[in-house]
Amino acid sequence: MKYQSTRSFEQVSDTAAVLRGIAADGGLYIDPQLGERPFDWQSCLDLTALEMAERILHHLLPGYTDMASLVKRAYEGKFDCEELTPLVKVGDDFVLELFHGPTSAFKDVALSMLPQLVTAAREQESVKDEIVILTATSGDTGKAALEGFHDVDGTGILVFFPADGVSPVQKAQMVTQAGKNVKVCAVRGNFDDCQTGVKQAFAAINASGMLNDRGKRLSSANSINIGRLAPQVVYYFIAYAKLLRRGEITVGEPVDYVVPTGNFGDILAGYFARLMGLPVGRLVCASNANRVLTDFLTTGIYDKRREFLKTSSPSMDILVSSNLERLLYLASEGDAALVAKLMRDLAEKGVYTLEGKALERIQSVFSAGCCDEEQSCQTIGRVWKDYGYLCDPHTAVAMHVAEEYKKTRESRTPLVVLSTASPYKFPAAVLKAIGGEAKGDEFLQMETLATLSGVPIPKGLSGLKERPVLHEDIIDRDQILDYVANLL
Ligand SMILES: *Cc1c(COP(=O)(O)O)cnc(C)c1O
Repeated sequence: MKYQSTRSFEQVSDTAAVLRGIAADGGLYIDPQLGERPFDWQSCLDLTALEMAERILHHLLPGYTDMASLVKRAYEGKFDCEELTPLVKVGDDFVLELFHGPTSAFKDVALSMLPQLVTAAREQESVKDEIVILTATSGDTGKAALEGFHDVDGTGILVFFPADGVSPVQKAQMVTQAGKNVKVCAVRGNFDDCQTGVKQAFAAINASGMLNDRGKRLSSANSINIGRLAPQVVYYFIAYAKLLRRGEITVGEPVDYVVPTGNFGDILAGYFARLMGLPVGRLVCASNANRVLTDFLTTGIYDKRREFLKTSSPSMDILVSSNLERLLYLASEGDAALVAKLMRDLAEKGVYTLEGKALERIQSVFSAGCCDEEQSCQTIGRVWKDYGYLCDPHTAVAMHVAEEYKKTRESRTPLVVLSTASPYKFPAAVLKAIGGEAKGDEFLQMETLATLSGVPIPKGLSGLKERPVLHEDIIDRDQILDYVANLL
């Protein structure tokens, strides 16, 4: 089985796709046959979370010879519950909590697994080179990637974050990261500046051939890497299995999923689950005030020429959602030339339009909605007051969109809202929303929130303040290339 670039006919094995991260032509790797290769999804539903992960990842990445050990090493004992992603009933709906990993972010689900996939791929492909992970982060990816890769032999990791785009807790998590193979650097600008700069550095270094004789090669921990995306498919199955075991649904009944979206990785994993046969009903894409995806999914016009808004859900403050490219490929039935053209339009003109059958196919599965700052704040307050459930601003965006979505649909399909961060990562916003007072720094606010809500502070977040700062570099976007080149 081969992975293929979304922009040409370039084909590689799954292990090679994980090592490269991005295709030579700038495209993303995808399995064009995913919807056609048979998968016994029903027999998955009786398994434990780890067994399910093994089965699903083996299907998505069949070239790996020992997925069972990789899954064990990635997850066993690392999450604060065995089920990995608990499903909680809140009102009539369900919340799938994806933040029980070591850094309290949903990114942990994928980034606990990725280092295992990278090191195993390195062995299987007999690669001697050190794999240097180059990552731009809007906050959570950075820490989760550092946690996954630090001190992993044969790898190095370099994380760039927007100086003004992450919360104090997120920043503290990153700049206190220890490890012999890690480096963290702030970039003046927003996440898109950061991501664009890193993508350009990536391409320039590979094109220059400067790494050929240094025993190193670059890869990515961003969700453009298929090894990052594949592990996310698992929790759609976990949620479905839970609903089944609790008697909320019968086998085959559809379930709608509402997903707080930024780079489109999380929700695309739901589409993969659907292609593998899981009865995913509609996938509802929830955006914050940066509503570029809401507009695209309703009109077919993707237009990034708009003001970039900083919101209380910074991990979703994104104008270029990289993983949408994979959906364009699948919806256009593998029309790589079309995808290449659309991506060129986006880079050169800042806008592209998708029409016809491809757009229809997307709209037959995806719905979209957005949520502004006030609505997000009100939602946190309302959900706390009505159900005693504490949610973070990202989850609140999805909860609001879920409410709006329910008003428009006719079915009463069970609905799962994906929850992507612990409320303790955004204590000021959450405190304010539930009527508390956000005094002092974020660390004090966490304590106030714990006292007020009775919900315990996650282990990885308490004690953060006392840890020494190990990374203080700050650079401009156009210095990223030089910065990386100097370290290699
Ligand atoms: C990354 C992230 C998202 C967005 O996920 P995508 O896969 O980029 O769409 C949403 N919420 C939180 C808290 C995140 O860290």
